[in-house]
Amino acid sequence: MVISEIFHSLQGEGPTVGTPCVFVRLGMCNLKCNFCDTPYTWKEGEEDYSDEANERIMEAVSNILDEFPHTHTIVWTGGEPMMQQRDLVAAIDYLNQRFTSRVVEHEVETNGTILAQPEFDRRITRYNCSPKTAMSGNSKYTVKLKNFEKTTYKFVVGNEEHCSEALGEIERQKLPRGRCMFMVLGTTAKEMQERSPVIAEICKKEGIRLCIRMQCIIWGAKRGV
Ligand code: SF4
Repeated sequence: MVISEIFHSLQGEGPTVGTPCVFVRLGMCNLKCNFCDTPYTWKEGEEDYSDEANERIMEAVSNILDEFPHTHTIVWTGGEPMMQQRDLVAAIDYLNQRFTSRVVEHEVETNGTILAQPEFDRRITRYNCSPKTAMSGNSKYTVKLKNFEKTTYKFVVGNEEHCSEALGEIERQKLPRGRCMFMVLGTTAKEMQERSPVIAEICKKEGIRLCIRMQCIIWGAKRGV
């Protein structure tokens, strides 16, 4: 498995914002967004697929779950974690068996470009999908993850133009508005504060939920928080 970092924090974005979680940040991504706040996950050449590496990762996650017995959610994030579904199935099974006495939910942060395989999907509680629009610098794509019961769609927006583009994509891809969010572009509290008012007005008018990145307000642009 290719891992970038493992840490305990609060979920800062999406429908479970504020929830204590173990974050497992996987390496590798199939996109290269111009606003990516985790470009260090793309770094190549450090892949370690050995059993020993997977054991070390599982030990690190288990240690955090042992240390924080009231944490019930693991967020598999990236990079693009859906690139490593087969390894994640094994990891989830291991953790579910090791922690049989408590409910552990599995949340996935994804760009939505990769289909969830049935054996992976069965093990996932929810997906936080962030479809990238043209303003990310990527070519236009249609999200493959359309499991509406489990998925929330977070569009990164920083101004009116970005919101218009995202609204166009919601229509084009027939995504349910009730499961869509506009997430404010930025990594600092200042950016959240400056950009939110305009986006909030659009959210009110269009029936879209607003998502302000809580971790940027509390900790700013830091890694591992
Ligand atoms: S999809 Fe996410 S991890 Fe990948 S480049 Fe874009 S913002 Fe970064």
